[in-house]
Amino acid sequence: MSVVTLSNQYGLYINGQFEKTVDTTAVLNKYSQEVAAHISIAKKEHVETAVKGAKAALKQPFPPYERYKVLMKASQLLLERKEQLANILAIEVGKPIRESRGEVERAAQTLQISAEEAKRIQGEGVPVEAAPGSENRIAFTVRVPVGVIAAITPFNVPINLVCHKIGPAIAAGNSVVLKPAEVTSICALLLAEIMEEAGLPSGRLQVLTGSGAKIGDWLLENKDINMFTFTGSPRVGEILRTKAGLRKVALELGNNSATIVHKDADLEQTASLIVQKGFSNAGQVCISVQRVYVHQDVYERFLALLKDQTSSFVLGDPMDEKTDIGPMISLLEAERVEAWVNEAVEQGAVIEVGGKRNGALYDPTILTNVNDDMKVCRQEVFGPVVSVATYREVDEVIAKVNDSEYGLQAGLFTNDLQFVMKAALEIEVGGLIVNDASAYRVDHMPYGGVKNSGNGKEGPKYAIEEMTEERIIVFNL
Ligand code: ADP
Repeated sequence: MSVVTLSNQYGLYINGQFEKTVDTTAVLNKYSQEVAAHISIAKKEHVETAVKGAKAALKQPFPPYERYKVLMKASQLLLERKEQLANILAIEVGKPIRESRGEVERAAQTLQISAEEAKRIQGEGVPVEAAPGSENRIAFTVRVPVGVIAAITPFNVPINLVCHKIGPAIAAGNSVVLKPAEVTSICALLLAEIMEEAGLPSGRLQVLTGSGAKIGDWLLENKDINMFTFTGSPRVGEILRTKAGLRKVALELGNNSATIVHKDADLEQTASLIVQKGFSNAGQVCISVQRVYVHQDVYERFLALLKDQTSSFVLGDPMDEKTDIGPMISLLEAERVEAWVNEAVEQGAVIEVGGKRNGALYDPTILTNVNDDMKVCRQEVFGPVVSVATYREVDEVIAKVNDSEYGLQAGLFTNDLQFVMKAALEIEVGGLIVNDASAYRVDHMPYGGVKNSGNGKEGPKYAIEEMTEERIIVFNL
């Protein structure tokens, strides 16, 4: 039994009011597939009102110390409502309840770090007097908000990833128009309620629910939006980048994350970290371990450990405390993963563990005998499937990791310093994680990829750099 009661219908959050629309769309309980609630569908006029309100709100003074107080309070309120929010995550994402609580705690951290950063936004002195003819001048920079930021977020981590956008945006003095993923919009609306209770001035956060493509287009057409910050698929990222014109765009896209297990690794610990980080949230995480390259000398032993640990996961109802892995976000997604695995098997891959689907539940799966051109290796699986291959030489495995259109994060298990340094310099990623898997992340570190994984960093300090403009002030004395 759920400890939360959901409203029958949630409204849009525009200028500090929740506004229900006549047209609605259902949000499903991802485990039972029953309707959990309905959300409102924004029309073009809602988008226009929200953006206008967001722009108008910028005129009201909102100094850094106040931003700090609001974000700190919101962080505290989030923790006070941890159980309620975790329950909603379990319902609308299908994320196991223990993992859901972890996400709420992380989100509270993200808001707290954003609050702290609100007080540290600073420019620097610029020695213009060093140039001949400028002896009597002095200069410094200030960082000013970009203005109105449109934030578009995905389904998989719908509280913390929203906090990663609204936290830094508000800390930096911007207004935000948020478009959360259709299938997991409820927690974003509760977050709006929390921000309001924490004292966020009306208009600084607007939440529009409904069709991604339509709202996305209306936001792109609206010239009062100064920046887009997006987490989601490369397909949509490209649409935004193409249509945003000369405006700022920060993109967090996918990855087919690789992790290397060298011959000197502590195999037991490595296997445990890899399965945790390959299968949490049913593999629906951008940095989820997908490709594992194991040194030939330790392959058999490592594979046995990996199989053993994978077999012990409990699949099922996200509300059950014992559940490790819940359903995927939809039946369609689980069927897609099943089709990719079946295709790999037809091409010669071997299922070592898993490979079975029951509705939207897909077993944690280990594949061997894979090659880099199979879909399960080449593309982003975004499901609980880990492919294991071998290597002999350091150069060979670095080339394999880099043979990808993506480059978000990679993992490397070894204490061989020369290998680590070579990998640090040559692996094309935004982050290399040594002695842990690709999926390591804490919320204040810079996080963002290269190649088709996107551009621009998240982590409040780094996101604030993206979400502010550096302005130089020069004095002629
Ligand atoms: P995912 O595979 O994680 O669902 P998507 O890129 O499809 O990734 O969705 C991420 C977010 O982008 C969601 O909030 C979705 O509603 C939104 N979205 C989908 N299509 C568009 C679009 N054409 N323009 C803008 N946003 C979109």
